[in-house]
Amino acid sequence: MLDPKKIRVRYAPSPTGFLHIGGARSALFNYLFAKKHQGQFIIRIEDTDIERNVEGGEVSQIRDLKWLGIIPDESPLEPNPKYAPYRQMERLNTYQKYAQQLVKQGHAYECFCSEEELERSREEQLARGIAAPQYNRRCLHLSIAEKNNFIAQGRKPVIRIKLEDHLTIAFEDMVRGPVSFNNDDIGDWVLIKSNGIPTYNFAVVIDDYLMDITHVFRGEEHLSNTPKQIQVYRYLQFPMPQFGHMTIIVNEHGKKLSKRDASIVQFMSQYRDMGYLPEAIFNFILLLGWSPEGTQEIFTKAQAIAAFDAKRLSSSPSMFDPQKMNWLNNHYLKQMPEDAYWHFISPFIQKVPGIDQLKEQSVIQLAKTFKDQLAYGLQIVDLVKPILQPTFNFDDEATSLLQSQDGKKALALFIQKFSQLQDIQGPNIKEIFKAIQAETGLKGKPLFMPVRLKLTGQLHGAELANIIPILGKELTLKRLQA
Ligand code: GLU
Repeated sequence: MLDPKKIRVRYAPSPTGFLHIGGARSALFNYLFAKKHQGQFIIRIEDTDIERNVEGGEVSQIRDLKWLGIIPDESPLEPNPKYAPYRQMERLNTYQKYAQQLVKQGHAYECFCSEEELERSREEQLARGIAAPQYNRRCLHLSIAEKNNFIAQGRKPVIRIKLEDHLTIAFEDMVRGPVSFNNDDIGDWVLIKSNGIPTYNFAVVIDDYLMDITHVFRGEEHLSNTPKQIQVYRYLQFPMPQFGHMTIIVNEHGKKLSKRDASIVQFMSQYRDMGYLPEAIFNFILLLGWSPEGTQEIFTKAQAIAAFDAKRLSSSPSMFDPQKMNWLNNHYLKQMPEDAYWHFISPFIQKVPGIDQLKEQSVIQLAKTFKDQLAYGLQIVDLVKPILQPTFNFDDEATSLLQSQDGKKALALFIQKFSQLQDIQGPNIKEIFKAIQAETGLKGKPLFMPVRLKLTGQLHGAELANIIPILGKELTLKRLQA
């Protein structure tokens, strides 16, 4: 049994872009597992695919994780000297050392084949009906003279692993249960490229071992990499961590979420910019592939840590439901204390065209009016805009309401009573509608909609009793009489 205090897990992003929902989920589940067991959560940067690294990739990933509340115990920015450095490109000597050890032990070998030769061999195999071509081991038994000859030609070798033939590699995946692969389906793969940089599958093993990683939760795209990694663990006689591969995230149509799919917002920075709260996203991601025992849906971070149980990670695809994200965000927005809400919403409401013409008190009032219905910060623009700059493109329903006898009657009575009103505060507006109802028997749409349509051009929106005091008497009457 592992000592729970020694549990160490990691999130190991490649700095190839911003923090994506899939990455955030891997990070979150590792984090929760660590915190649940009083263990440590580490961020390691896997930057060996140098062509794909992007400027700012590392910084933004760490920033966005911290914004979500996923706080690392160790990272390139908060290194533990025992395990540093935390960027793979700063650990190249270490990988070389282990690769040389494997060569010496006969578990790996230098390969001088050129790209063209490899490609030719691949094509030959395909032509022979081999569906998944493998390296043909041409360089497995090179003599010293042959090697020297290649070197004299200016060829630089890669280091390939020599897989154990016919070996079945089986392991118990924490999410999927028993999984097994056969080495015969894999082929000798490259440990160290000709430029001296390790491949992901090699570096990850060395680092997980040297960093004392006990459990690895990651995306299912790495399931088929695991037998490759296990072969390295076997050769180097490293103790193995436990693996858990999370299932894919799919959209509403059951299709795997693609980073290129612009119809779903997938990057954490985009959510922040749109005015989603980190607590809401944290809660949303928690339920994306994990479920608690009961029916509870709202979890604070502390509750999530207490409830988290890796056994309850789902083994079927998780559906990304944007409606649920909005529902959760609305829940957290509603709960915000007034002043925190104002602080949060202020930069968004400032974007409404014409807002600078209102007094601050009115802007605060407007913001408050929408607090309970708001899905995300930026949505306030769409909600407030029709109040300040209405457009009157009425559809059939709106037109018939305005032209009906009842509608006309309600509107005329409202204008009459409203123009006599001294104090136009909300309760008095409500009184007017009550009085009209008592006088005419009208209620519902014919009673309210004509006034709403004249004021905002819309059939839906905030309560009239809230909007009218903000518009003021003059503007209200002007719009009603237009
Ligand atoms: N660098 C890998 C990735 O970004 C990490 C995979 C792993 O966790 O082992 O997908």
